[in-house]
Amino acid sequence: MQIQRNSTRRVVIGSIAIGDGNPIAVQSMTATKTQDIDATVGQVRALEEAGADVVRIAVDNKKDAEALAEIRRQTSANLSVDLQENYRLAELVAPHVDKVRYNPGHLYHHERTKPWREKVNYLVGVAQDNDCAIRIGVNCGSVDPDKLALYDPTDSIAPMLESALEHCEHLDSLGFTRYCVSLKDSDPKKVIEVNQRFAERRADIPLHLGVTEAGMPPDGIIKTRIAFEQLIGRGVGDTIRVSLTVPNPRKPEEIAAGRQILADIAAGRVRSVVDFGLNTLNIISCPSCSRVENEAFVDLAEQVRDMTQYAKEHDITIAVMGCRVNGPGETDDADLGLWCGPNFVNLKRSGEELGAFPYDQILGKLKLELDALIATRVGA
Ligand code: SF4
Repeated sequence: MQIQRNSTRRVVIGSIAIGDGNPIAVQSMTATKTQDIDATVGQVRALEEAGADVVRIAVDNKKDAEALAEIRRQTSANLSVDLQENYRLAELVAPHVDKVRYNPGHLYHHERTKPWREKVNYLVGVAQDNDCAIRIGVNCGSVDPDKLALYDPTDSIAPMLESALEHCEHLDSLGFTRYCVSLKDSDPKKVIEVNQRFAERRADIPLHLGVTEAGMPPDGIIKTRIAFEQLIGRGVGDTIRVSLTVPNPRKPEEIAAGRQILADIAAGRVRSVVDFGLNTLNIISCPSCSRVENEAFVDLAEQVRDMTQYAKEHDITIAVMGCRVNGPGETDDADLGLWCGPNFVNLKRSGEELGAFPYDQILGKLKLELDALIATRVGA
């Protein structure tokens, strides 16, 4: 089946280009500790062998950036880095990568008095000096607070969309067009809507598609497939990432899943239904990365999935996140949320913090909360 793709701009990322009719690039991210150079290079190579076009590495501090320099020396893979709250790390990482991602919602955490446009000017300058592309990465759990304040709290699409469009306009005004945009949510229906609406307004800008915290296979793959089939089938999307909660050696499964979905769409084997997950238990979990605070995270996510099966007929969302960087924000909208610390797991109910519990107690605490939640729903 020949899919008519949107005619987006060409954006070069190292040895590949996305947009402008180029093949849809498949990305993944390492989940090793970045400072464990051998393990990280090994995982970059495994991802490349599986067919990754771009590999992202987490960098949170100067030591990670030093490790990245050595990783760069040992691989020619197209590398990208995700800047979190400390946007000034850009100048340390950009010399070693082909793409830098920033999140508009994270530009508020450092140097709060400095306007975001000045910070973006700096990032664009760093990208230009180092021959890097940029991804403007908007995420449902960390939207620019100024944008959130402008819209009805029940409308999660408009703030994401307007934040992305505003940043695009600013990069354009600087004459910098070597960028793509991502608009990610853990709900595939929202991913479809926000990306479609973006593409209607800016059909020229390449889109990086992904369902964030899609969770464990097979549900994580099904959720992602739903979004990708609907979007790519309509010509929207230039690069993809399938985010799966899988143990470390299995990260190449993300690439295999992404390639399979693309092959199926190209062959017309489209089989998703958009109402997946409606009125049923929905477990969302992050794919884990270098920041994960305890190696038991993936086991915990699997145990949560197994323990909660008795509640599968209930319309309840449980979020399981690996660290304090994104855990607190990304668990806010879940009915029950867990995010990992080194020795304790933090538990939340509808955004309210209930405390932090040792790893060997958290499942019991979660079950008590789940039972109470079901009782209120049944009694309602
Ligand atoms: Fe990495 Fe933390 Fe995001 Fe999980 S929640 S993918 S550990 S940054």
